[in-house]
Amino acid sequence: MERRDFLKTIGVAAVATGVTTGLGGVACSKQKFTKGSGMKLSYEIKQLNLRHTWTIARNSSNFKQNVFVKLEKDGIVGIGEAAPNVRYDETPESTIEVVKKAMPLFANADPFEFVQLGYDIQNLCEGQTAGKCALDIALMDWVGKALNTPLYKLWGLDPKKSPLTSFSIGIDTPEVMAQKTREAEPYKILKVKVGKPNDEDFIKAVRSVAPDKPIRVDANEGWHDKEDAIKKIEWLVKNGIEFIEQPMPSHMMEETAWLRDRSPIPIIADEAVKSTKDIPKLAEAYDGINIKIMKSGGLQEAMRMIWLAKSLGMKIMIGCMIESSVAITAAAQMCSLIDYADLDGNLLISNDPFVGATLVDGRVVVNDKPGIGVKEA
Ligand code: MG
Repeated sequence: MERRDFLKTIGVAAVATGVTTGLGGVACSKQKFTKGSGMKLSYEIKQLNLRHTWTIARNSSNFKQNVFVKLEKDGIVGIGEAAPNVRYDETPESTIEVVKKAMPLFANADPFEFVQLGYDIQNLCEGQTAGKCALDIALMDWVGKALNTPLYKLWGLDPKKSPLTSFSIGIDTPEVMAQKTREAEPYKILKVKVGKPNDEDFIKAVRSVAPDKPIRVDANEGWHDKEDAIKKIEWLVKNGIEFIEQPMPSHMMEETAWLRDRSPIPIIADEAVKSTKDIPKLAEAYDGINIKIMKSGGLQEAMRMIWLAKSLGMKIMIGCMIESSVAITAAAQMCSLIDYADLDGNLLISNDPFVGATLVDGRVVVNDKPGIGVKEA
């Protein structure tokens, strides 16, 4: 779809600077780059429609409004995406504030100094990591395109070593959850959302359709009593569940440590972990962490999280929010370093505005295009 038509379709758009270059910038390693300053940043909101009403322990939604950014210099355009999340006090508007705040930074920065620039993005303000993530993805996409190299190669990784991805089944009536499980036939691993009084019904519904598939469970902080939680986990173990993600609220560290001591399956932190500095204390209560680039504030911080979690012997998952192929493909670039992938956000929407990584035999496979490797659909 032409960009102009797209803006008309969504009805909500804001372009802050005069970037006219199309997406999917020119990759040329021999190109002479102008030194230092002059990066232009623009943004727009796009509505992503969900295939099914999406319900987790916390809330329900039918669509998401994500913020997309473009970073342009020397005819190369880096693309980034923010999926603002109310759990972390983020909205499209607060995300745009971060992007506006970053404009002078980019106007004066050298993109090849992307490590320092990445830290400068992190220090723009407290929180608002989705906005920072969009900026970091766009920056790394630009750098990869400028060097004519896919990001995984820049990082020295072999994408063939990426684990299978899970596909998430949101909370619904057992009948609808069974139907969603049927639709998830191409996926080799399921992640089932729980966190309600009748969690067992959800698992029974999914198991009735997928008796042998590996299933992971995510309670999204939905269990509040540790005695109840261990009973639920023991029941889940009998039903072949591989691990449990964020069983209790993130602030209930002592209770989670108590649970971990008794749980036969790993307990993975999600809402409890955002960035590197959270990880050391979590090693006391969790077996692993779910890294999301929207929580970490981008790819570079996610990579630092991987190194630290690995050094502490923790399991590593890379998960996602409801995101288009931009953020999913960006995160997939680092998947060969992790134990579990949960990159299905783009598969839950019906109008992905971009194409990038594809699902092949249950694995999210990146392409060999430079940068993150996405273009407009
Ligand atoms: Mg989760």
